[in-house]
Amino acid sequence: MAKVLIPTPLRQYVEKRDSVELTGGTVAEVLGALTSQFPDLRKQIFNDEGKLRSFVNVYLNDEDIRYLKKDATPVASGDTLSIVPSIAGGAVDVAPSPAVAIPPTSLSSDEILRYSRHLIMPEVGMEGQLKLKNAKILLVGTGGLGAPLGLYLSAAGIGRIGLVDFDVVDFTNLQRQVIHGTKDVGRKKLDSAADRMLDINPNVRIDRYEVALDSSNALDILEPYDLVIDGTDNFPTRYLVNDACVILKKPNVYGSIFRFEGQASVFAYPGGPCYRCLYPEPPPPGLVPSCAEGGVLGILPGIIGLVQATEAVKLILGAGEPLVGRLLLYDALAMKFRELKLRRNPECPVCGDHPTITELIDYQQFCGVTVQEPAPPAGTKEGEIDPVDVKAKMERGDNFVLLDVREPHEYLICNIPFAKLIPLGDLPKRVNELDSAVEIVAHCKSGARSAKACDFLRQAGFRKVKNMKGGIIAWSDKVDPRVPKY
Ligand code: ZN
Repeated sequence: MAKVLIPTPLRQYVEKRDSVELTGGTVAEVLGALTSQFPDLRKQIFNDEGKLRSFVNVYLNDEDIRYLKKDATPVASGDTLSIVPSIAGGAVDVAPSPAVAIPPTSLSSDEILRYSRHLIMPEVGMEGQLKLKNAKILLVGTGGLGAPLGLYLSAAGIGRIGLVDFDVVDFTNLQRQVIHGTKDVGRKKLDSAADRMLDINPNVRIDRYEVALDSSNALDILEPYDLVIDGTDNFPTRYLVNDACVILKKPNVYGSIFRFEGQASVFAYPGGPCYRCLYPEPPPPGLVPSCAEGGVLGILPGIIGLVQATEAVKLILGAGEPLVGRLLLYDALAMKFRELKLRRNPECPVCGDHPTITELIDYQQFCGVTVQEPAPPAGTKEGEIDPVDVKAKMERGDNFVLLDVREPHEYLICNIPFAKLIPLGDLPKRVNELDSAVEIVAHCKSGARSAKACDFLRQAGFRKVKNMKGGIIAWSDKVDPRVPKY
């Protein structure tokens, strides 16, 4: 028997299990057994030709099967197969640079006191602290990952820190973005983060970039820095940061988070792999939910962000073994760190031997996010769905929950067999029974109560919510006349 570890985004296709024990003599046989037991998983991890999709990697123990004998790799009893999909895990107003400063060669007496616990460590010492003071780090995003990074990197005495963010602090950010306080709600994240960092350490110079990083500004913004830390929450920016770092030959300290799981690595380090070596292409939009859709344990970005901060400080000091060629996986529920080997792919389109991407491209288009959702059919408002379309979704086998928000006695009169019953009044205390990553179609008798349910769910952070227009009455009229009207 071999064990297949299932990552959180794919557990919805395997009855919410985190691992499945299967028999099979090769990787292909085990994956075949897995997808015949769970057919819905098949289209998530294989393409139409039956090949593994490019945003899904499979590891046998700690080895990427792409570098072994592929599918024919034998699997022994007790082996572990891991399916590791990519996870998302946040006008150029470039801060004016003062005249080029001469790198400091000494610390003030204030700084000597402040950094004394570093100075007495032989691995840091005066030489190391001066390296930190002369270091320039760009932090892309001041959200979940950026918050602990900003706090600790300024405390550690990094001389110059660039911050890229154009968002404002939202009340729902406070659960994890500990650099911002309740009083900062509504302020620019850049200002809120910079104030807190300067309060911790006024010796840090902070450059503020209130922009969305894109191909027109990324190279200019990244250029002055020694290394870049990727604290973003979306695929277009991740690929952009990766490619820009490879082109500019700057290390990219990567981290990503989803629910209880995180990943970290160091990409674009000389000789090491890049993000595209790991994931040549992003998942199709909508397949892997973002943190806004799927949620994230508030503590998780603290852990992953500080792994990134540690790697950044080590790279500057030249100390220890950097996380290059290794993908660190963290599972908070199991409280386990695992490590997978990564190799530079000589065929990689950016960092390979014959790169085809030598300048920045359109990352929105590359990640497919500019594709517009089809407009709702005539007569249906935004956020509504016609009963006929709900029936079609059922017949196609779409993954969604039909939520009936009527009272139990109404359910006894008539119901749609597929529906899950949670009366409107019970919804707040039973909302945890619903998975925000899965689409929800709510219905009631005629559509009014389910519209309230949809409003409630959207406020609670559910993004994929639709109201079935006309309720079960319209279902009876348009889809199934056997359903009695009342
Ligand atoms: Zn690469």
